[in-house]
Amino acid sequence: MALIVQKFGGTSVADTTKILAAARKAIRETRAGNQVVMVVSAMGKQTDHLISLAKEISARPNTREMDMLMSTGEQVTIALMAIALESLGHKAVSFTGAQIGIRTDATYSKARIRSISTDRMRRALGEGKIVIAAGFQGVDDDLNITTLGRGGSDTTAVALAAALKADRCDIYTDVDGVYTTDPRIVPDARKLERISYDEMLELASMGAGVMHSRSIEFAKKFGVLVQVRSSFSDNPGTVIGPEPERDDMPVCGVALAKDEALVTIHGAPDKPGVCMKLFQKFADAKIPTDMIAQNSSSKGKTDVSFTVQSDDALKASDVAAKVVTEIEAESYEVDENVAKISAVGLGMEKQTGVAQKMFHALFERGVNIQMIATSDIKISALLKRDDAVEALRAVHAAFKLECEPTDEAPKTRSELKADANGSLENGVSANLISHLTGMEDVVVEGVALDDNQARFTLCDVPDRPGLAAEVFDKIAEGRAIVDMIVQSVGRDNLANITFTVAREEIDAVQRIADGICKSHGCRVESNPHVAKLTVRGSGLRSHTGLAYRMFKTLGDSGVNVSVISLSERCVGVVVDVEHGAVGQANLQKEFVEETL
Ligand code: ADP
Ligand code: ASP
Ligand code: MG
Repeated sequence: MALIVQKFGGTSVADTTKILAAARKAIRETRAGNQVVMVVSAMGKQTDHLISLAKEISARPNTREMDMLMSTGEQVTIALMAIALESLGHKAVSFTGAQIGIRTDATYSKARIRSISTDRMRRALGEGKIVIAAGFQGVDDDLNITTLGRGGSDTTAVALAAALKADRCDIYTDVDGVYTTDPRIVPDARKLERISYDEMLELASMGAGVMHSRSIEFAKKFGVLVQVRSSFSDNPGTVIGPEPERDDMPVCGVALAKDEALVTIHGAPDKPGVCMKLFQKFADAKIPTDMIAQNSSSKGKTDVSFTVQSDDALKASDVAAKVVTEIEAESYEVDENVAKISAVGLGMEKQTGVAQKMFHALFERGVNIQMIATSDIKISALLKRDDAVEALRAVHAAFKLECEPTDEAPKTRSELKADANGSLENGVSANLISHLTGMEDVVVEGVALDDNQARFTLCDVPDRPGLAAEVFDKIAEGRAIVDMIVQSVGRDNLANITFTVAREEIDAVQRIADGICKSHGCRVESNPHVAKLTVRGSGLRSHTGLAYRMFKTLGDSGVNVSVISLSERCVGVVVDVEHGAVGQANLQKEFVEETL
């Protein structure tokens, strides 16, 4: 007898007819001899409605009371679902997060799951009942109700599947799978047969709202096989598992984060420890940051920019105001008129020219790139919000994502299940998991050092469409392979473009960089002896404390960081080559040896 977790999102339970249809899907599984745990969201747009009621009263409502309020949406659905199942002749029981024993930390609106007790669910399943769990909620140690963040019912579902060692976790939603991008924005987006945990985690974290990114962390950590499928058809969905759909494609999908905000701290003192202090404040406030870029220093001062989600913009403004005073910076600015577009793919690691293709696509549509940040499996560009949809379509077309892959049959379900259980390479080792104190604790798998890199910065480059495309075209013509790329926000319409290359390319790249600077009146700064340190794991970007701990460990060891790249599975920093070994040893001590 298999155990299946089925999750139904808001549109799938938007009215009582849909609730009955979802109930029938669960009964169908039990008739096939399986046990079923259902996880449900609030009906339709109920969570939005509850939030708007609170906002009618206060612009900054109390966060504990917001969680109390928002959790009521799911409570309505679980009761109606139990009533629906019983009306169809099946035994059922509904549970709130507290009743199942979903224990979380006390971070209202973004709580993380610490533990789940399965006894009560097992008892009810043993009595032949369908268990219906409220998604998106838990309780902290003082029994305060907490919520997991918008879209968090996916995380409840996958976490329950992990705790119950379920055979499958089916996510029923209003699309019939994971597409190469949001099919509502790009109608010719293609449905993927399967996608790897790392790619889905990165796409979700970068804005692909089809899955809550934290649910994929659970799936990867505990080897849960997830299937995304439609509530309204029986079409096969997309399997999220250890394997990518294809090994030979550089990009599997493009995500749009429409609601981003760009925070810039102007005139921060350029000395060791300042950046660490800055990011500590944002980590303490549990605000995840992305696209971190620093302008080159002038008169001992530098501008530091990074992005946050618009939801966090108000809180980020408060933190930035305090930070400016504490670190003695000049001022801060929050621009809420930006959007982020990210191309993601495991194949990117092995192929060159991917970033260049994306910059070209944007240039051809006349879109100006305000910031660039790359990491191992993604390239992100920050744009004006008005350009976002056009940019998404252009990048999707540039990588021909609408085209069906030609050869190689997709794997069967049983092959994928075997991979999910057996593979350590794309999952997490059981040894690391057994050392976790909370289910949702961050997992670090290792620290790597590449001490054969050189860094170039093109300073004061004119900030206009096509510049990044031109720079990386010329470098590609010279056959140099670029690793990390960061383009920072410019003052006075001037930007900085920083990138790293393998050290043996240095002479060729220097000539190219000099040529570009001559024709655009900018200047080149380079450091031929840098090293890249990377911490590998999963959920690294959104576990806000991790990047800070990394900077602190390096800062305490006297190591200065010049470039930062963030993804969910990898945080990379560039340091001077003589600091590479000590940095690696101390990061290893901080993150890896401590857990083992
Ligand atoms: P639910 O309420 O079922 O959780 P969501 O609205 O959270 O549903 O997620 C489904 C929506 O995600 C789709 O309607 C689609 O517009 C959006 N979406 C964004 N990116 C993607 C993608 N890459 N593939 C499929 N859907 C996507
Ligand atoms: N109801 C919550 C929300 O709208 C959780 C969820 O649907 O996943 O964000
Ligand atoms: Mg959702």
